[in-house]
Amino acid sequence: MRCKTYFFLSLFLSLASMLNAQVVEQCGAGVLQKNSFVSHPELIANREVTEQAIQEFVQNGVTNRGVLTIPVVFHVVYYSEVENVSAQQVFSQIAALNRDYRNRNENFSKVHEDFKKVAADVEIEFCLAEKDPFGNETTGITRTQTPYTNIGHRLNPSDGRPSIFYSNLGGEDAWDTEKYLNIWVCNIGGSILGFASFPGTAIAAEDGIIIDYEAFGSIGTAKKPNHLGKTLAHEVGHYLDLEHIWGNTAGDCSIDDGIDDTPEQERPTQGCPNDRRVSCGSFDMYNNYMDYSTDECLAMFTQEQKKRMLASLQTVRKELVNGDFCSQNTVDSPLEQIKLYTNPVDDELFVSLKGGNIFEASVMIYDLVGHVMMEEKTFFFPGAYPIDVRFFPQGVYFVVLSSSDNQLIRKIVVNH
Ligand SMILES: [Zn+2]
Repeated sequence: MRCKTYFFLSLFLSLASMLNAQVVEQCGAGVLQKNSFVSHPELIANREVTEQAIQEFVQNGVTNRGVLTIPVVFHVVYYSEVENVSAQQVFSQIAALNRDYRNRNENFSKVHEDFKKVAADVEIEFCLAEKDPFGNETTGITRTQTPYTNIGHRLNPSDGRPSIFYSNLGGEDAWDTEKYLNIWVCNIGGSILGFASFPGTAIAAEDGIIIDYEAFGSIGTAKKPNHLGKTLAHEVGHYLDLEHIWGNTAGDCSIDDGIDDTPEQERPTQGCPNDRRVSCGSFDMYNNYMDYSTDECLAMFTQEQKKRMLASLQTVRKELVNGDFCSQNTVDSPLEQIKLYTNPVDDELFVSLKGGNIFEASVMIYDLVGHVMMEEKTFFFPGAYPIDVRFFPQGVYFVVLSSSDNQLIRKIVVNH
């Protein structure tokens, strides 16, 4: 019997250690910081100064400046064609970010009442940049084919620079990282879904976020369980100075995320629990975007996390919200902000919406005798929404856009 007991005990212990070892590292923010400090040791002191500035700002009371809008440029760096994600997939990602940072996530209903009380509308929105650093009009998306597979992980052999950040190393150069949030979309490979630089931890050319194309947006290549666009909500959290909710050291309750209204948590959550979990003497907030739970689970930031993020946007990252690289949102009648181009149109008509709003509308296109050529209900995102008119005979058409409270009619000419 003793032997048997010992056997079960050792089986239990090895299972327990397997479970411990099972934490799949899916975020590389810490690794990116480590690499950056090795190449640029001066950033270690810089990070301390930066962190202090943010903390002081929080302590002095963060003033609410209303909704802040961050201009984003997506650098799609692809090896194979499938990694060259569509513009619609980019729009779905912007929509997901705006949903998550404005506390409009439908999974929020699953959050426990205790935690709902501290949940925050972060009041940050994101828009695709409409002007590039030279003042030219842009879609806010760059596309680069790279000779390297898994470029998200690649370091240049001679100097250790991450290739993704440099055009001459097979990646794409950043746009002014003080003024734009730069997000590189690529194949990272391995278990890592994304990397982000904490404020003050990266040189200007390398400041931003890298995200895997299979954890990006909510359509196209987005793959379960990271298919609802929330990996980026998590990485933007780091970029705006949030730590992981369990404080980065699994198994140690004394290490915290430095945020008062997130409970102490022992380790990252995997999957999506359907019951309450307890660790470090309190319930785990596994619905928090800064955990590792699956997209179906993630649904909230807290009030104190909001303060930290706003503090970073009013100190070290303040240039991000001071430019006019995309127009402000909060339009009452979004339809009035819509532009159709080009007109005359050849094969694709773009419906462009300025500002950070996303709204549901239907599009109908009629010919001159009232035949419905196309009817679609869709979500419009900031940026340009393409409509395929290749199969329309040449001629004049009417485009009717209807939202819940408004209607817009425009005449277009199809001329192939
Ligand atoms: Zn992370």
